[in-house]
Amino acid sequence: MMELLKKIYPLRLAPVSPDTDRAAAILCQVLPFKVHEYPSGDEHNGWLVPDSWEAHKALVSRDGQVIYDGMKHPLGVAGYSTSFKGKVSLQTLKEHLFHHPSLPGSLVYHCDYYYKPWKKDWGLCVSREFFDRLEDGRYEVEIETSFKKGTMKVLDYLLPGEKKETIILNAHNCHAGQANDDIAGVVVAIEVMKRLAARKKRKYSYRVVIAPEHLGTVFYLKNLPDRTTADFRYAMFLEMLGNDNRFALQESMTGQSLIDKAARQYLGYNQPDYFSDRFRKIVGNDETVWEAPGYEIPCISLSRAPYPEYHSDLDNEAIISEQRLAEAVEAVLGIIDIIETNARLKRHFKGLVALSNPKFDLYVSTIDPSIRREVSDEQRKWNRLMDYLPRYFNEKTNILDIAIKHELDYKKVFEYISKFRDKGLVSFLDAGREENDVA
Ligand SMILES: [Zn+2]
Repeated sequence: MMELLKKIYPLRLAPVSPDTDRAAAILCQVLPFKVHEYPSGDEHNGWLVPDSWEAHKALVSRDGQVIYDGMKHPLGVAGYSTSFKGKVSLQTLKEHLFHHPSLPGSLVYHCDYYYKPWKKDWGLCVSREFFDRLEDGRYEVEIETSFKKGTMKVLDYLLPGEKKETIILNAHNCHAGQANDDIAGVVVAIEVMKRLAARKKRKYSYRVVIAPEHLGTVFYLKNLPDRTTADFRYAMFLEMLGNDNRFALQESMTGQSLIDKAARQYLGYNQPDYFSDRFRKIVGNDETVWEAPGYEIPCISLSRAPYPEYHSDLDNEAIISEQRLAEAVEAVLGIIDIIETNARLKRHFKGLVALSNPKFDLYVSTIDPSIRREVSDEQRKWNRLMDYLPRYFNEKTNILDIAIKHELDYKKVFEYISKFRDKGLVSFLDAGREENDVA
């Protein structure tokens, strides 16, 4: 994952740019993506596909001496800056310089013009320290950028399962020079897909969608037939997963969909220091696109937000570790596994079953009769679950809801109920759709 990340994040990425096309070509060698292309100028709901933009020259000089070269880092020129050549006052220059709000020595990621092609202006990103050092006087500015008709590319890889119902993994690829935000999400999503592809069987279908933030997914959904998007059941936005921080789970709009519950279950028992918050309270990405009316696809976000290097030139490979990325792959697969294995239960008996009979061997005691010593709270929970369980074999209740209700690890509850299945007491039915999935 690190190797792939290092190839992509230093590129001059933008919603549409020659380097974003290069990134797409690299990713297509890793996974056989279908590449959807949307031409510059296309409009939908007020969103516009921008031109292919590239910066060629970005110099600020004083008395013929170059004092700033914006081409030294992909963040040096504000994305979609226009060309400009002229002498300006200090005040005018400062109106066109952007700096990071909290990192005085760093460059800031500026993306406002991506989404507002009607707002034509020039801009450079400089450090706050550089900004503060500027003295009164006249400055020569020479910015050369090009705007050409191109196509915005959305990478889409479909892995079919037994059901057409699809779980989407989404990450964005439009932030120039940013490793954690979000090439980290891109490489994690691809690794998860490779691992799912290696499985013999999958209940759900899966898609990984790598796209410029907002713009990419807006046009992707708009251009797919309704019969395809009707199968999109859940989405997971993956970003900022390589830095050294605990997991942050942002809920879907309802916070109650199956993918929310599965994520809380997995993280609660496997990454207990994670934190979570409501929709849009942690990060802001394409979850608004998936959840938009007419689609209403519950979209959670998994990240390691916040981190101090956010939207700066310090968001580079130095803050990413393969181990954190690998943990994220495990977490995404752990959440998926709950959704894959969750089931409703059909009972094949009537009345109370002697679970302690060796032919079943399913009894969970709270007291060891030989030593008369009480067992742990955990054991008590299992004993209580055992008493309730036969009533849940009603073709309505699913395993995940049982685990949540009894505050037990889904994986262990699944294993316990699987033993009832192995003894012929119950069979598993498809879990079906949750009523809480749609607001
Ligand atoms: Zn961002």
